[in-house]
Amino acid sequence: PVDIHQTRIWVRAITAAMDQNKDRLTQLDSAIGDADHGVNMQRGFTAVAAALDGYEPAGVGDVLVKTGTTLISSVGGAAGPLYGTFFRAVGKQLTGPVAEPAQLAAAFEAGLAGVQKLGAAVPGDKTMVDALAPALAAFGAAIEDGQDVGVAAERAATAAEAGAQETIALQARKGRASYLGPRSIGHQDPGATSTALVFRALAEALT
Ligand code: ADP
Ligand code: MG
Ligand code: MG
Repeated sequence: PVDIHQTRIWVRAITAAMDQNKDRLTQLDSAIGDADHGVNMQRGFTAVAAALDGYEPAGVGDVLVKTGTTLISSVGGAAGPLYGTFFRAVGKQLTGPVAEPAQLAAAFEAGLAGVQKLGAAVPGDKTMVDALAPALAAFGAAIEDGQDVGVAAERAATAAEAGAQETIALQARKGRASYLGPRSIGHQDPGATSTALVFRALAEALT
């Protein structure tokens, strides 16, 4: 099971990753977007760290709902509301002081459903969904296979990284990058790249 403390460590690890990868994410977004993804993610997760400081959550989900709400209110652009919706939808499923592995897997799926409801992206559209969907599939499969959450998170991170890599060959059909049409091919999607960081941070937090 995953407790409140580990959930906080996860979110803190995401904040650190966004600090470290700000320039890289912005560079990716400068090729096929408006060069602000790194800034957006860093600003958002810096605000999240401040919001969680001194916050006393009753359950695992409260940490994630607070994370999502803060992202929505502090980040302009596509990624803020999409990530915000993800964390809020995941958090709403997790009401207890600990989350069992199967609960977490189901909550993640609710998060993906929220992202797809808001953004209408499907796998192959060259968005964060191309990292998120394979990450959650790998996570769920590992849990069903009886692996612990650390192993499941490690597999999710690896799958998200592969999914992000695979966006290079895709043509964008959603978001700003879609305005480029075929010229979006040959560049890695920034949002898929930040999603891989989110799951690498989870693997770090749980192992
Ligand atoms: P903006 O494009 O508004 O500047 P960001 O640069 O912060 O926002 O985020 C861009 C990322 O958001 C893209 O790389 C993509 O992964 C993701 N994205 C954009 N539109 C969608 C969508 N409709 N569904 C899912 N993800 C999307
Ligand atoms: Mg952008
Ligand atoms: Mg923007």
